Amino acid sequence: MIRHFIQNYLEPKALVLMYHRIAAPETDIWDLAVSPANFEEQLQVLSQTGEVVPLHELAARAKEKRRRKRLIALSFDDGYSDNYETAKPLLEKYRLPATFFVTSCNVGTAREFWWDELENLILYSAHLPATFVMEVKGGLIKTDLNQETEMSEELQQQHMHWKACLTLPTTRRSELFLTLWTVMRVLPDSEIQELLQQVRDWTKSEVAHRPAFKSMSTGQLAELANQQLFDIGAHTVTHPALGHHGLDFQKAEMADNRDLLQELTGNRISLMAYPYGHYNTATLQAAEAASFDAAFTTEGSTVNKRTHQHRIGRFQVSDMKGVAFAKTLQKWVQT
Ligand SMILES: [Zn+2]
Repeated sequence: MIRHFIQNYLEPKALVLMYHRIAAPETDIWDLAVSPANFEEQLQVLSQTGEVVPLHELAARAKEKRRRKRLIALSFDDGYSDNYETAKPLLEKYRLPATFFVTSCNVGTAREFWWDELENLILYSAHLPATFVMEVKGGLIKTDLNQETEMSEELQQQHMHWKACLTLPTTRRSELFLTLWTVMRVLPDSEIQELLQQVRDWTKSEVAHRPAFKSMSTGQLAELANQQLFDIGAHTVTHPALGHHGLDFQKAEMADNRDLLQELTGNRISLMAYPYGHYNTATLQAAEAASFDAAFTTEGSTVNKRTHQHRIGRFQVSDMKGVAFAKTLQKWVQT
């Protein structure tokens, strides 16, 4: 028992870091963006460790019996174009490998992800009608915006500083946004798009095409895939919360995404990350059926030889300077 404990304790840790966007957007309610300057400081810290390896190597070596070295791997979710435009040159500068998990529905288009568009429509529209009413799955979402129909400087500031992942909404608009986001997130994309269109109609807006929110182009993806340092991974076609759907739906989301990415890159797609980190037992089955060598969640945990190969945890890196990042990394290593 004690020997087992000591072995566990001494086993060098392997950990996977998760990024989404390398950008400095005015608002970042889910804490998903790291500024280019902070990202570079973080890469400096990482390159000094000498422990960064490609993700597929970490997934394989975490299984080794007598691994001496600590391992760190970097991953990026969703496939935003800033991954290519901003993260790639910095990763190349420090010669650090990374895997990009790409949701394919917006690749090569000017479209935004539904959550970005919804956030902008509800939180930042200059003018909104006084009452919102929408029927979803037999239920009714009804809100009166009261004093918040017109966008004010104060309201804008409140929304720009709001972290939906940390604090409850404090405005009518942010409450409405979170209600819609929560309801929509569990639906299949076809239904999400219908509801989003209703929100656009309510706000009298056209489909949004903000350049900063677009996905990578097919050419950018192919170029990333051709570089020794980088690897493309699967992240489904439409980014569903997989565990809320049936096995066949999950299998199709994984296989169609994998096949498209394989066609675009000419490489075998062997790694997968679950959107929102959401999964159930059917998800693990689907990942196995799709022949992924390893699949990743968003649970902050280190990897060891007992870790389920299709349930590997990752630590989400937030927008912090190098010194704070080094301390956080140290803390993660000790978990
Ligand atoms: Zn994602």
